[in-house]
Amino acid sequence: VIVTEEPEHFRRLMDDARSSGRAVGFHPTMGALHGGHRANIRQMAAECGTVAISIFVNPLQFGPGEDFSSYPRQLDADLATAEQAGAEVVFVPAPDAMFPSPPLVTVRAGALADHWEGRRRPGHFDGVATVVTKLLALAGPCHAYFGEKDYQQLVIVRRLVTDLSLPVVVVACPTVRETDGLAMSSRNRYLSEAERAASPVLYWSLLAGKRAIEEKRVTDAARVEEEMLAVAGAEPLLQLEYAAAVDPATLAQLSTVDGTARLMVAGRVGGARLIDNVSAEPQEA
Ligand code: AMP
Repeated sequence: VIVTEEPEHFRRLMDDARSSGRAVGFHPTMGALHGGHRANIRQMAAECGTVAISIFVNPLQFGPGEDFSSYPRQLDADLATAEQAGAEVVFVPAPDAMFPSPPLVTVRAGALADHWEGRRRPGHFDGVATVVTKLLALAGPCHAYFGEKDYQQLVIVRRLVTDLSLPVVVVACPTVRETDGLAMSSRNRYLSEAERAASPVLYWSLLAGKRAIEEKRVTDAARVEEEMLAVAGAEPLLQLEYAAAVDPATLAQLSTVDGTARLMVAGRVGGARLIDNVSAEPQEA
């Protein structure tokens, strides 16, 4: 595996791969790699000629009071995981190499950031959009892999690539879960044993909403949300922030579920803020 800290070196490595005829797959991460990242890297290895990832804890996407300074950093373990999963290039820029000073020109995520995570984390998606634009500018034409786990981010990145005509194909990666259903996340390590045991309730609440739509054929979105709330509300260690049925493209809250919906939940369990989502599809009559 080739590890580089230098943006221009990373750019050259991606250019060299393309000039020797290989398609580039690129997966931006913040490190603390887990089974989700590993599956995404493996998927790239199966689909692309050259497999690159970045590891960068992006200061622009953390708000004041969030976990930027405590976010797990474990480069040696990450390099071993990345290599084992099939990564050939790992770009690990120092903060000063990416942002020598706070950028004056930035990318705004726009109205898609007004909902859900963006409402609760002001500036978060502008920070994501800015760093993703920069990483994709360095990577050049490629297939860029993003997880469905961060569904709002995936929708915003797709729109960013379309609206700014970036020479990139966005590939969505399915959410990888622990055996009890908890979506894998670097932030799960903040959970105590009791909190960890309580956390799959987020996924159960999504499944309750999905069952309402797909099996009970509920079309009133408020009733779907009630089913989700009933499950989430039964866990005292969870402080739920939202549980909603939304339009998968616009992220607007639905009133009626008459097509594919995205069910999204977020909440705090102890010191960890957790998010999750699933797709729900009403069955044909
Ligand atoms: P992060 O390192 O948390 O910024 O995540 C890097 C990428 O991995 C993002 O595209 C995430 O959506 C994706 N990702 C995070 N968790 C999972 C998961 N459990 N399954 C699949 N992809 C994930």
